[in-house]
Amino acid sequence: MNSITEQEPPLGMEYQAWMCVVCGFVYDESEGLPEEGIPPGTRWEELPVDWSCGECGAGKDNFIRLGS
Ligand SMILES: [Zn+2]
Repeated sequence: MNSITEQEPPLGMEYQAWMCVVCGFVYDESEGLPEEGIPPGTRWEELPVDWSCGECGAGKDNFIRLGS
């Protein structure tokens, strides 16, 4: 058995990816945006309401959830 286990999301809480409909930028919850100070595993709902697309500046309203 490997004692080093990665943190896995609880059942039904799998990470989602969100895409900016303006420029196609994808925010992946499992990866976060470390360069913006957003650690991996940060849920979309946990992003600041005034968070905006790092590519084009569009607000969260302009993102759609990608199907898995
Ligand atoms: Zn964008």
